[in-house]
Amino acid sequence: MERGRRLEYLRAIGVEGWERRNMPAPPAAVEAAQLPMEVPPETSSIQRQAPVSKSIERVVRPPVVRARPDEPLSADAQSQWESLTAEVLSCTKCALHSTRTQGVFGVGNRRAEWLIIGEAPGAEEDRRGEPFVGRAGQLLNAMLKAIGLPREQVFIANVLKSRPPNNRDPKPDEVAACLPYLMRQIALLQPRLMLAVGRIAAQNLLATDMALGRLRGQVHHFGELNTPLIVTYHPAYLLRSPADKRKAWEDLKFARSTFQRLAAQEQ
Ligand code: SF4
Repeated sequence: MERGRRLEYLRAIGVEGWERRNMPAPPAAVEAAQLPMEVPPETSSIQRQAPVSKSIERVVRPPVVRARPDEPLSADAQSQWESLTAEVLSCTKCALHSTRTQGVFGVGNRRAEWLIIGEAPGAEEDRRGEPFVGRAGQLLNAMLKAIGLPREQVFIANVLKSRPPNNRDPKPDEVAACLPYLMRQIALLQPRLMLAVGRIAAQNLLATDMALGRLRGQVHHFGELNTPLIVTYHPAYLLRSPADKRKAWEDLKFARSTFQRLAAQEQ
């Protein structure tokens, strides 16, 4: 992206003048993860706690045959998306169905190579039926734009498809009931990279109670497809704690460089 434009987007997410200051050294784990054949130092402990998280270098991913982003979906794929959407919107598998206004399936490009995953719908999302709307959604859009990704080019979903009352944390049984929907979204989408935003999404996807700060700066893997997964802050948290926007920017740059590396490996 052209420098002036990127600065404009960075200002929009509140990272002012980042190029003029002395940038802090990237976290050690980031440097380690960027070294080929090096295992990030924290990965081994995460592997013990979370079987779905593995070092990128040790994982043999099944080959993915990718359609071009502008290619139309096959009739079969379209029908699978539609039936999955209908299932989610009429789901009663956990108690949250009785308090939600509507299910929030997810939104975006069904050929997206980036899958953005949050925690659960909030009040506005529950009302509008779309994830990441309102102020947090606007900040997420600005964060994505800062790395050259318009919202229309990614797919955005949550771990939970129904809003927990009063935005409380999801309960384990709700996550267990809802996660198969996300797995099916991933199987249909086959994203190149997942970006988990916020502690709750990261901890539930990686089956760990490790602090978000320790999960940042490395590549995890999720699910049967071993989809690479990177963790960053939730935009709602960044609105409350703007001092951490700089760290979020480091995460986004790490995600972008990881994505580029993965894309180059697949060519
Ligand atoms: S949260 Fe998930 S499992 Fe629970 S009712 Fe909503 S869609 Fe179904």
